[in-house]
Amino acid sequence: MALPNIVQAGHPVLRADAAPVPADMLGTKRLRDLAATMTEVMRKAPGVGLAAPQIGLGLALIVLEDAESLMSRLGPDERAARGRVAFPLQVIANPALTTHGAGRATFFEGCLSVPDFRESVPRAQKVTVRAQDVNGKWYEMTGEDLLARAFLHETDHLNGKLYMSHVSALKRALMK
Ligand code: ZN
Repeated sequence: MALPNIVQAGHPVLRADAAPVPADMLGTKRLRDLAATMTEVMRKAPGVGLAAPQIGLGLALIVLEDAESLMSRLGPDERAARGRVAFPLQVIANPALTTHGAGRATFFEGCLSVPDFRESVPRAQKVTVRAQDVNGKWYEMTGEDLLARAFLHETDHLNGKLYMSHVSALKRALMK
């Protein structure tokens, strides 16, 4: 089966609120297959995260992964500068985020739906996500630095937001 294309900025699905993954879809083969397809699309891109709206589906579902192989070209200094830490594949349904404290970190961020742009974006440094796994089981996970940034970036996609909305109006004007 051909993989779906990644929806690009300008498409209305990226500006809409995603609907929760319904209870009767949790634990089904349909949801596992969807998560597997999203994982394939993310790995092929390659990227470290993908939200369902990015394949045109307004559902609160995210996949995240930062594999060692994606970082193999980076030296230790570059990894540190980019805040890269490997994290295993996570499938996240119906997430709610809580940020910890006032700590902010600013790093370059890109998006598979906004090709050829990277911009530095301030984000909360530490975030806890409460979400359901593909079987509907609730869990909590706390992430810092790149993982926190990935939670925030992908959850924004479920709220119809692109990372550009966190960049100042002046910077946005200069990017045009
Ligand atoms: Zn994105």
